[in-house]
Amino acid sequence: MIVVLKPNITKRQENAVIKEVEKLGYKPRVLRGVARTVIAAIGDERTHASLETLIAWPQVESVMPVQKRYKLVSREAHPGNTIIEVRNVSIGGRKFHVMAGPCSVENEKQLMQTAQAVKAAGASILRGGAFKPRTSPYEFQGLGEKGLKLLAKARQETGLPIITELLSEQHVDCVAEYADILQIGTRNAQNFQLLIAAARTGKPILLKRGMSMKVEEWLLAGEYVLANGNPNLMFCERGIRTFETYTRNTLDLATIPIIKSESHCPIIIDPSQGTGRADLVVALCKGAAAMGADGLLVEVHPNPAEAWSDGAQQLNLEGFARLMKELTPFIAAAGRE
Ligand code: PEP
Ligand code: MN
Repeated sequence: MIVVLKPNITKRQENAVIKEVEKLGYKPRVLRGVARTVIAAIGDERTHASLETLIAWPQVESVMPVQKRYKLVSREAHPGNTIIEVRNVSIGGRKFHVMAGPCSVENEKQLMQTAQAVKAAGASILRGGAFKPRTSPYEFQGLGEKGLKLLAKARQETGLPIITELLSEQHVDCVAEYADILQIGTRNAQNFQLLIAAARTGKPILLKRGMSMKVEEWLLAGEYVLANGNPNLMFCERGIRTFETYTRNTLDLATIPIIKSESHCPIIIDPSQGTGRADLVVALCKGAAAMGADGLLVEVHPNPAEAWSDGAQQLNLEGFARLMKELTPFIAAAGRE
């Protein structure tokens, strides 16, 4: 931490700050400039008490951290890429992965038909919501455990691992019993107790970015997972709220190089929630692949016009097959398979 003192303070005021810095376990180094004095407090900011309260002292002008607030998710802590093993699939390695399936699991026929089609087109993981976080309480809330059972059946029939959202701490045991990857949704991205409970299941976790979350907050939310003993974390950008209403959200593809440089955890892009429009999904999938994302999360439905949730943004089965074909050169351009 760097503590900048105000000009024209007394020696006594300066000494009081130095004492406080020492009291909190840091080694103070006093740097005297022409106009003002700066105290460099040497010590690990993440394991020592914070010096930030010094800002309330009248003789202090500013207090600046020099270390990043996250540790375990950072590249510094783990220079190589983290590779997450999910059954027969490795996420974060050379192979690019597409997770695809309906926004919500609706019934057996809809899910099996989608699962078979996305597998045939080249998806390696099946997505499907069983517990749905809906904006209105009058909208379809998901099939719950019945949906999880259908997902397990689809996994058995296709061999595809499954990803599904964990909505509440109440459902942890139930969802972890069926899912291969736990999805933490945008609305829960800073529900820290849920993140801790999810981490403790030991299942791989896909952490969506909160719709109003800064990158640092997202990384710190991810830190909760690693700090609770679970190294299998991936980040998922799904668009943030901006002034723009042309798209449902503003998909922030800059997070691909940002997460890649800040963290060793894989980054997955969800252009379905990211744009809210099926006609834009393909272009953003291509962009994400070319920019070096580790994978995609794409909503696919046999008949989007009749979907029980997010109909406007789901690709139909033919559209998804076309996407997978068109993606190939973009995946190759990023040096992936
Ligand atoms: C979803 O994937 O269907 C979903 C609800 O995602 P998000 O949490 O990003 O809105
Ligand atoms: Mn959805």
